[in-house]
Amino acid sequence: MPRIFDRFQTDTRFRRNLIDWITRSDYRDAREQSYIWHRKFVFRGNPFNRVSAHAAKKCELPEGRTWNPAMSSHRTCWFETLSTEEREVEILGASAAPGISRHHWGTDFDLFSLNPRNFVDGARMNDEYQWLAKHGVHWGYSQAYIGGHQDHGYMEERWHWSYVPIAAALQEHVRANEAHFAAALNAQWDSFESRWGSKHPEDRRFFNFIRENWRPFMFHVNQGFSK
Ligand SMILES: [Zn+2]
Repeated sequence: MPRIFDRFQTDTRFRRNLIDWITRSDYRDAREQSYIWHRKFVFRGNPFNRVSAHAAKKCELPEGRTWNPAMSSHRTCWFETLSTEEREVEILGASAAPGISRHHWGTDFDLFSLNPRNFVDGARMNDEYQWLAKHGVHWGYSQAYIGGHQDHGYMEERWHWSYVPIAAALQEHVRANEAHFAAALNAQWDSFESRWGSKHPEDRRFFNFIRENWRPFMFHVNQGFSK
């Protein structure tokens, strides 16, 4: 271990490779986040997220399966049964809306893997996770999404870590200037909607739900150091 630390200090190439290997994502701007949101909303590309209990019941689909744009039963549910607001809620289970993601702040990182199965007891990233859960605090890191919130849909993310001394200050700043940020977020969502709406006039409303409900997604995040 000390040898790795020594090398980490002195060998920039080694350091970069190690950080690349550990970090699945770090800084991501709102435009990049908007591509993720749009792709899921128009239901294209690779499977994503999970079918929620609500959607499963409404569409008579098995709960917890990955949403798959290639499956006709999933397409029918997505486009014909779910409202646009319900589609947003499905996306929000695993993706933040552009403007809301903590990855915009430069303080938040996804480490090792984005698959929850890799972090459970006995799985290949569990040791790393347990180490971070115990020692991350000494370097100011905390797991942002611990699951179980009543008022927003983010699931537990054992890979998503925040550097709290800066992230907590940024969050306090948003809270202290909430009206200003609400106006800026709405203006940003307007501009994405008008860009996308020109191509898909029938799908003009991409952000109805999050406009009314962004606050818990922004504020109800674990910033304490206890899990
Ligand atoms: Zn993340």
